[in-house]
Amino acid sequence: MSFPNLSDYPLNRRQFLNALLVSATALAVDGAVNTRSAHAASAGDPFSLPPLPWPDNALSPHISANTIGFHYGKHHQGYVNNLNKLVAGTPMADQTLEAIIQATAGKTDQTAIFNNAAQVWNHTFYWNSLRPKGGGKPTGALMEHIEKDFGNFDAFKTEFAKAAASQFGSGWAWLVKDGDKLAIVKTGNADTPIAQGRKPLLTIDVWEHAYYLDYQNRRTDYIAAIMDHLMNWEFAEQNLAT
Ligand code: MN
Repeated sequence: MSFPNLSDYPLNRRQFLNALLVSATALAVDGAVNTRSAHAASAGDPFSLPPLPWPDNALSPHISANTIGFHYGKHHQGYVNNLNKLVAGTPMADQTLEAIIQATAGKTDQTAIFNNAAQVWNHTFYWNSLRPKGGGKPTGALMEHIEKDFGNFDAFKTEFAKAAASQFGSGWAWLVKDGDKLAIVKTGNADTPIAQGRKPLLTIDVWEHAYYLDYQNRRTDYIAAIMDHLMNWEFAEQNLAT
């Protein structure tokens, strides 16, 4: 099965929702859909919380159902709710998430809209960057790119983990395609590479809410668990290919 490819944007909102529905249907056929996590949007709200690509306990023991419950059910849902309130009755209610992010990036009078829109997008991308029985190594064109731009996979892995561990305070670590090259970037708070014209391939959320219930202050253990057990290289390969 394949997840909606977030690099296919600009999709309009209807196309995005349809893509998610197709994904949810595929998961339902597999018997793996987590219906408890599929929050219905209020009638008329422009944005809704996409279903998770796996059940909420699927990443355990590396990331617990308890963490997913708060992170997805409270934090991600909260960003969706805030964004809906902020854009209600404005032209942005009819725009894509990506268009809103790009239009509000760097504008000091639109920080709240940017933060919530970017956090909605970043979290959907993060869930898809993780998978049960993930980790390991990429294959094909992505592995060739990594070897060309970082020397070898272990060197990449070390640098990516270092970026995620050293992001001061809240933020994200990303593998991105920047022009013809792959790069590792860190962003603070809600900031996102799509606001900077870079194409994300994978991300790790390093806000404390992503790991504190399971790891307390041991962010490096959380990062290692993702790299070794959860990283969804198929998702990154799909993003590179599109
Ligand atoms: Mn988060």
